[in-house]
Amino acid sequence: MYIKEIAASLYPWDIADEGVESCVDNLIHLCDVNSVYLVGLMHKEKRPLDQLYYPHNPKRKFYIPEDSRVYYQMDEANFVKTPLKPLYSKETFLKDKDWLKELIGYARQKGLKVGVEISHTIYDADIAERKYPEILQKNVYGMPVGGDKIIDQRILCPNHEYVREYIKALFYDTVKNNDIDFIQSCLVMFYEGRALRNEHDNEIANVLGTLHGGCFCESCGVKAKQMGYDWDKIQHDMKKLHDIVTERELSDMMTLRLLEQGNLLATGLLLEHPSFYQWLEFRTRSITELFKDIYESIKKANTKVEFRYNTYIRYPELGGMNFAGIRNYVDSVRESDYSEQSGDLKRLELKRTKILKIRRAIGYDKDLIAAVGVRMNANEDIIRESLKMLAKTGIDGISLGHYDGATFGRLRAVKEGMLEGEINLQEHENKSKQ
Ligand SMILES: [Zn+2]
Repeated sequence: MYIKEIAASLYPWDIADEGVESCVDNLIHLCDVNSVYLVGLMHKEKRPLDQLYYPHNPKRKFYIPEDSRVYYQMDEANFVKTPLKPLYSKETFLKDKDWLKELIGYARQKGLKVGVEISHTIYDADIAERKYPEILQKNVYGMPVGGDKIIDQRILCPNHEYVREYIKALFYDTVKNNDIDFIQSCLVMFYEGRALRNEHDNEIANVLGTLHGGCFCESCGVKAKQMGYDWDKIQHDMKKLHDIVTERELSDMMTLRLLEQGNLLATGLLLEHPSFYQWLEFRTRSITELFKDIYESIKKANTKVEFRYNTYIRYPELGGMNFAGIRNYVDSVRESDYSEQSGDLKRLELKRTKILKIRRAIGYDKDLIAAVGVRMNANEDIIRESLKMLAKTGIDGISLGHYDGATFGRLRAVKEGMLEGEINLQEHENKSKQ
C-alpha cells in the first residue's frame, strides 16, 4: 500500500534542547519522515507524558509547560474583534524566539512538508476564569464543566463571541504569516463529560456521561433559540437527567442503578427524552459551524494550506463531532489513537475500528492519517504489528506521537513495520504540491 506522508511532531523545548537539525535529522534517518510539525500552541501537560524522563533530551529530564502559550509570533492586528490575545511563554530559554520559523527554515532545507498544531486548549484557564468567566462552558446548573485532569478543566465555549473570534484569528494569523503546508488542531470541542462507572464500554454509559459536559452558557442559549430549539424545555428536561447522573436524590441513585444494570440502548433513552437528542444535535450543529468558520479563516489566508483535524477522544461524537457534517470543512483527519503505548496487542483492534469509523464518514477525497504511538509502553513488537495492521486499513499517511518520548529503537520499528507491512511512501507527492 502507498501512503503520502510520514509526519512527526516536535515541541518548542525539544528544538531548544536538542537543536532543530538534530531532531529533524533523527526523524528522517530513523523513520523516513517527510513531514514535521510544531506543536505551536500547547496545553498544560507534563512532558514526556506518563514517562518519568526524556529518553534523549541532553538538557533536562522532563518539562512542565505553561498553560496554552503560543510559541511563534502573531500579529495582534488580527485579534481586534476579541479581548482575548495570544499569550507567550515567559520561560527564559523559550521566549523571544519564533520556534515555528526555526522549524520551517530547516524543514524546507530538507524538502519536508511542514505544519503547525494548535492543541487542546487555546487560552490560559486561570486568566479566563478571573477575567472572562462568561466564556467558560457550563453545565445545566450553570457550573463550569471539566474533568479530573488539568487539561480538561475549565474549557472555553466555542459559541461565545470572544472565543469564536479568537479561534478564527488564531488560524487566520498562523496561516497568513507562516510558510506552512498544513495546520492541525485537536481543539477541545464541547466537554464530553465522563462515562458512568460501568464495566462495559457501552452506549448508555457514554451518552449519559455527556451530562457532565457542556454547554448551557448564555451564548449557547441565544444560539439554540436562533436555531429554533425550545431551550427552556431542553434545560428543564436536562436538569432531571443531570440529577440522575449525579445522584442528586436517593431516588435518582436508584434510577441510575437501573439504567446502568438494565439493557436499555442509547436509542431507547433518546426516544424517551427528545430534549436530550435535541441538546446533542445542537452541540453538533454548533461544532460543524465552528469548523466552517475555521476552514474559511484558513482558506481566506491561504487556499493552499491544508486543515487537518486531530481527534483527542475515543468517541468524538460525544464532544459534538459529526465527521460526515464537517467533511467539507477539513482536508484531512488525523486519528490520534495511540494504542501502541498501552503495550497491549489486543488494543490495536480499537485503533482499527476508530480509523474505519472516520473513513466511512469523510470518504476517500479526504486524507486519513493514522497516529502511531512511539512512547510510554509501546515496544518495538507492538509498533511493527500496528504498522502491519494499518497496512490493511487504506490510510493515506501516518503521524508519530511523539518524538520527545520515543526511543530510537521504537522509531526504527516504525520503518521495520512499514517494510513488513509493505507500506511504501509516495516519494514525490509532497514535493510536487509545493
Ligand atoms: Zn456555551
